Amino acid sequence: ETEIPEDHPRYASLVTRHRIEAGVEMGITSKQGLIAQGRGEAFDYLLGERTLPSADAAERAAAATLLAADRPVLSVNGNVAALAPGETVALAEAVDADIEVNLFNHTDERVRRIAAHLRDHGADDVKGLAADGEIPGLDHARGTVDADGIEAADVVVVPLEDGDRAEALDAMGKTEIVIDLNPGSRSPRTADIPIIDNLVRAVPNVTAHARDLADASAAELQAVADGFDPDATLAAAEAAIREGSFATPDDEN
Ligand code: ATP
Ligand code: MG
Repeated sequence: ETEIPEDHPRYASLVTRHRIEAGVEMGITSKQGLIAQGRGEAFDYLLGERTLPSADAAERAAAATLLAADRPVLSVNGNVAALAPGETVALAEAVDADIEVNLFNHTDERVRRIAAHLRDHGADDVKGLAADGEIPGLDHARGTVDADGIEAADVVVVPLEDGDRAEALDAMGKTEIVIDLNPGSRSPRTADIPIIDNLVRAVPNVTAHARDLADASAAELQAVADGFDPDATLAAAEAAIREGSFATPDDEN
């Protein structure tokens, strides 16, 4: 990452790309993950590579919901592990959530590597290898989870989740927090709390809100969560894209 000059106009985007490449080389990110990254970058460009006020509100609602949860779980896939391992561990600590590795293309080997990578970044307990639970309605490879992890969770954070799995988790009655840059994708449209923002900005900002809300009462947390409107946040992101306010402050020309 050090070879990218920090004053490059697309510095953040290039660092992110490099991390995904490194993730593939380390065997924690799938090749499909590269394609997902490309889609994400395109939407981030259209959104102006910034956290919209509506996304910040979603991130605060997510923090309140996680703090109020009984059994919150953060689901980690190969892209999340490559892009924000330390940030994910910090969020888990801030809201007292479990971390579970959950892959679209599950292999024990890749789950083990991701778990080791997360432990290198400070995680102490990483779920996902027991694989003794299931998400009903999905085939085995895509529906396998830990019985005391995602299966038992009341609130799940699923960044970059595919639409089928987001819908199946919703059907299980989970409160779902989805981080996804595409406001038109099924996953955020299924979510109770859609966060239309880049994972690398969203996760630290949810953590910052959680620290800010650490001493809030149950009633205060409930008020933050109740004040959030998922349709409004999706509409605001779509409007930002349509208005074409996507020139970054230091755009190339
Ligand atoms: P479906 O309708 O089934 O959800 P999809 O088009 O969303 O299909 P994928 O290509 O697997 O299917 O989705 C990857 C999603 O992840 C895209 O919506 C993309 O915008 C999002 N994404 C990729 N990288 C990031 C990132 N760094 N932060 C947030 N979202 C991202
Ligand atoms: Mg999607």
